[in-house]
Amino acid sequence: MASPFRGRDTRWRGALAVLEEMRREPGVTRAAVVRRLGLGSGSAAEITARLRDLGLLAETPAATQGRGRPTTVLGPHPGGPLVVAVDLRQEDWRCALAGLDGRPETVDGGPHASRDPGRVVETVAGAVRRLRDRHGERVRAVGVAAAATVQRGGVVQASTLGWGKVDLGALAADSDLPLLVGNDATLAGVAEARRGAAAGAAAALHVTVEVGVGGVLVVEGRPVSGATGAGGEFGHLPFGDANLRCPCGAKGCWDLAVDGRAIARHLGEPPPDDPRTYAQAAIARAPTHPATADAVTRAATDLARGLAGLVNALDPDVVTLGGLAQPLRAAAPDAFEAALTDGLMTFRRADPPPVLAAVLGDDGALHGAALTALDDVLTEAGLNAWAARSRT
Ligand SMILES: [Zn+2]
Repeated sequence: MASPFRGRDTRWRGALAVLEEMRREPGVTRAAVVRRLGLGSGSAAEITARLRDLGLLAETPAATQGRGRPTTVLGPHPGGPLVVAVDLRQEDWRCALAGLDGRPETVDGGPHASRDPGRVVETVAGAVRRLRDRHGERVRAVGVAAAATVQRGGVVQASTLGWGKVDLGALAADSDLPLLVGNDATLAGVAEARRGAAAGAAAALHVTVEVGVGGVLVVEGRPVSGATGAGGEFGHLPFGDANLRCPCGAKGCWDLAVDGRAIARHLGEPPPDDPRTYAQAAIARAPTHPATADAVTRAATDLARGLAGLVNALDPDVVTLGGLAQPLRAAAPDAFEAALTDGLMTFRRADPPPVLAAVLGDDGALHGAALTALDDVLTEAGLNAWAARSRT
């Protein structure tokens, strides 16, 4: 039997385009998709019917708006493809499921019982395996966001976890499921650029502060991450104190100038065990504690100086701030804006890119992991494989 998606006919392109719209904007209406894609009503009906038959799409009545004709909301089919999204953080992990609209729903997770990489991988792999056992071949790919440097699809260094190279292969649930691993800040940036604060930007720069700085330049929805995928390590640019050695091995890293470790150092306190929580507490008490306010202002200033350098180098049309970057900016807005403007080249100052708060919050990396896993499913080959499965 011929594949329903084989060939280069316009219906095939149309099917992928409709699913792409559903992923780009969860909850989108059929009327909006038809309008954006310029589809005739006949071909729209044909495409959606075929996608329904293949278990790829479901339609539910949309709330009526004005006097327009009634339309439907396009959503994932209740028996349709799923991807697993994993967020592997410094202190904990989460595991979520997403349908073709890429909206992750967290189903499992918890704090790391041990930082030992083998035990962490074993725990998370168990969760993925349970999802695979429960949902069978509906699970099509696994996306992993890791608080680590990722090269050629694998973790090569996680300074804050104290990890070197770690094999995440077990997260594919002992199967041949595609496993797509990315740095957490990179994937959060991808999500902000595709469906968050930078949606529609041609070149979006995402910068996040957790323990250190992470980020990515996303061009046309794709991360710019170098020859091996390990690019975007903005935290290890030498925007910091040249005398300080970073846990990454380099000296002078920006990482050490903008997070809880920096604030503690400015206050003459020892390095905190949990720099993120420490920074949050410092930002909260800064308004009533002048010494803390000074320390937070120094970190916010160093953040803005580095951002200006990245804007000069990368030429984004939007900048999004994730994690503690936005609270740092809000804690010292005048110092932040002054340092940002001072760091920009003259020609940029008249029309600098807007610097916006990320909107996906703590879920950004999980969204990015789901969206990236779906990149593997929403292809001609991916849909052909799904269609072949649904006939057996
Ligand atoms: Zn470093």
